[in-house]
Amino acid sequence: MPRFLLFILLSSICLRADNLPPEPERQLARAIYKEMIEIPSGFTTGATTPVAEAVAARLRAAGFPDADIFIGGAIPKKANLVVRYRGTGRRKPILLLAHTDVVEARREDWSMDPFQFVEKDGYFYGRGTSDDMAQAALWIANLIRYKREGFQPDRDIIVALTADEEGGGPYNGAGWLAKNQRGLIDAEFCLNEGGHGEMSAGKRISNDIQVSEKSYVDFRLEVRNKGGHSSLPVADNAIYRLAAALDRLSRFGFPLKTNEVTRAYFAELAKIETGPMKDDLARVAQGDPQAMERVAAASPVWNSTLRTTCVATQLEGGHAPNALPQLAAANINCRVLPEDSDESMHYVLETLRKVVADSQVSVAVSGEVQISLASPMRPDILNAVSRVTDKLWPGVHTLPMMVTGATDGRYLRDAGIPTYGVQGFFIERDDVRAHGRDERMSVQSFYEGQTFLYELVKALAQ
Ligand SMILES: [Zn+2]
Repeated sequence: MPRFLLFILLSSICLRADNLPPEPERQLARAIYKEMIEIPSGFTTGATTPVAEAVAARLRAAGFPDADIFIGGAIPKKANLVVRYRGTGRRKPILLLAHTDVVEARREDWSMDPFQFVEKDGYFYGRGTSDDMAQAALWIANLIRYKREGFQPDRDIIVALTADEEGGGPYNGAGWLAKNQRGLIDAEFCLNEGGHGEMSAGKRISNDIQVSEKSYVDFRLEVRNKGGHSSLPVADNAIYRLAAALDRLSRFGFPLKTNEVTRAYFAELAKIETGPMKDDLARVAQGDPQAMERVAAASPVWNSTLRTTCVATQLEGGHAPNALPQLAAANINCRVLPEDSDESMHYVLETLRKVVADSQVSVAVSGEVQISLASPMRPDILNAVSRVTDKLWPGVHTLPMMVTGATDGRYLRDAGIPTYGVQGFFIERDDVRAHGRDERMSVQSFYEGQTFLYELVKALAQ
């Protein structure tokens, strides 16, 4: 082997090992992780209480006093765990959040038992390995490590492991704690899931930090008509009116705009991008309207990052093949920029009415409006994330994100606790298996994430 190759090989092995925690810490994290994966905590069929109890037992064994451990929730089987690691109290606490319910998984849909923790070919397999048990296990493993090492933070570090993030619903733990146990989780800010590292063909591209989310709202478009016999059609037809309204909507786009978070996102992305969009991405960060048009047209993700979107997702109409329709209706799903959102979704509603432009087509909010406020772009947090990222993975950019989906962060943001999604796990862009079949986490990524979260929380707490 040529000497330079040997050198590259050796240095890359060293670098990989450098980012790993000491062996006993890895073993502890792995044991907690395995235990969590193997407890059935499926959103509809499982329970989170056994997870909370298993974690509480480990914390007590590690010397955490009972007074600093809380277990409770909306119903007995959907408990949350909150633990407080006491600091000097010089600053307001940090909250570290992760959810312990998982998306359902059926044995026959997987190539292995989803509730057996398996290590194979450099990956940990099992439901929840990426969403969200890795972060849950590491928050606890690192907290136990801080205690053993005698780390004295200048603020309390609170870990909350919560129920029912998947699908939300009445037992959602983050919402329940914010409402019923606010004092237990009150913090200056919170770290949560929602941002992870992006890899492409094994190369680390960026470490994403989720700063805000879009809001979620459904609208119902509805046309009612007196109907009649289908052998005697008239021009005024519920299905045609709805179809025409939907056609107008399909050709409409909400205004393109940027905000504090998305400007920072496009500015960083322009530094990473090497392809033909590089210059346009930089121009978007400066608010160039033509560049925004081109960037939005180039990718559904960028389009959804630059505007509120509304799209038809369901249809209903008519009651018989031989009758004129008395009803035609459509569900319109909207993902709304934080700056376009308010409790009643007034702006989006009025815009849809203008686009529909037909007084016979009623437009109304349907179901719950899920507002998500933006967290401020705090330089102390962003700098800490990029410092630790750069230390572990030199040259990897920290990318602030507004994600188009939703996490429990919205409950905390609504409760006035700014929340940032950051994990330090690197996942292949084209192999995201969360919620899907054979969910997995690379072993290297898990342990590097352990180091990342350990260092990050330390940096923010001293
Ligand atoms: Zn999740």
